[in-house]
Amino acid sequence: VKVGGRQSYRFFTPSMNERAAARRRIEAELRQAMARNQLSLFYQPKVDATDGRIVGAEVLLRWYGPDGTERYPPEQFIAVAEDVGLIVPVGAWVLREACRQGDVWHQQEMGVPIAVNVSPLQFQHASFLAELEAVLADCSLDPALLELELTERTVMAGGDATIALLQRIKRCGVRLSLDDFGTGYCSLSYLKHFPVDALKIDRAFVRDVETDANTAAITQAIIAMARSLGKTVVAEGVENEAQAEYLRAAGCEQLQGFLYGAPMDANAFGKLLTEQHLL
Ligand code: C2E
Ligand code: CA
Ligand code: CA
Ligand code: CA
Repeated sequence: VKVGGRQSYRFFTPSMNERAAARRRIEAELRQAMARNQLSLFYQPKVDATDGRIVGAEVLLRWYGPDGTERYPPEQFIAVAEDVGLIVPVGAWVLREACRQGDVWHQQEMGVPIAVNVSPLQFQHASFLAELEAVLADCSLDPALLELELTERTVMAGGDATIALLQRIKRCGVRLSLDDFGTGYCSLSYLKHFPVDALKIDRAFVRDVETDANTAAITQAIIAMARSLGKTVVAEGVENEAQAEYLRAAGCEQLQGFLYGAPMDANAFGKLLTEQHLL
């Protein structure tokens, strides 16, 4: 920041103060929002690449104010929650609420695996496994209908204890997937040690897959390798038919993105499940 001398130091100071103030404001508001039950979960379909059937959903956290408008975008308030440690209670709430809702659909015999994002801090927190076991014990959801999405960063940061923890989580019967695959530090050779069921190819690859030869080559290699290791491959951020067609031809099994449905509230997703169930 100070490379430009005093001038740039003076230039950056106010904006840094403003950012710190904004973070403190978001933190205080977030505590209130939790207490007032103003956080909610949206669901985005994952579809079978060959027949378009809904084969799962990703749970995405939302924060709407009492006036019905979005209070802060998820990237922004989740980053603050991670910084100040609030992601631990927030994440525990997300897990519990996702399982409650997943259980409702499961009871109606239209359950699909519900995937919950887990932050690094939440995953590394000493209470995570106990929390997961408690949530599963408190509902009748089939654990196979719960999936945890962990980023490469999360699993790589945990060190030696990580694989043991992943194995204990697997023993609960839940599914595990590696999120944002290809963007992090996860060398392909590590992958065989991780007891994960699925890989999610990051949106950055999907965006350019049919227009950039290098992206296409990397994406094909990821899909081929994942499949040879017996992992399900999911592509995220699929926005057009050309991308879908390319990924399908390359052997990607599940697709997720605006082409198939934006994240929607539980009512809207339940309607989609009902329609599919009646077909
Ligand atoms: P992510 O896990 O990579 O989630 C996918 C993001 O891509 C979501 O953004 C989703 O709305 C967006 N998306 C889906 N399809 C498309 C598409 O076709 N095109 C484009 N451009 N975007 C698409 P969202 O909901 O804003 O969430 C952003 C990030 O916030 C997530 O990235 C995840 O890292 C984090 N997040 C969201 N909910 C939770 C949560 O409950 N817990 C934790 N720990 N993190 C969460
Ligand atoms: Ca995710
Ligand atoms: Ca992702
Ligand atoms: Ca992401």
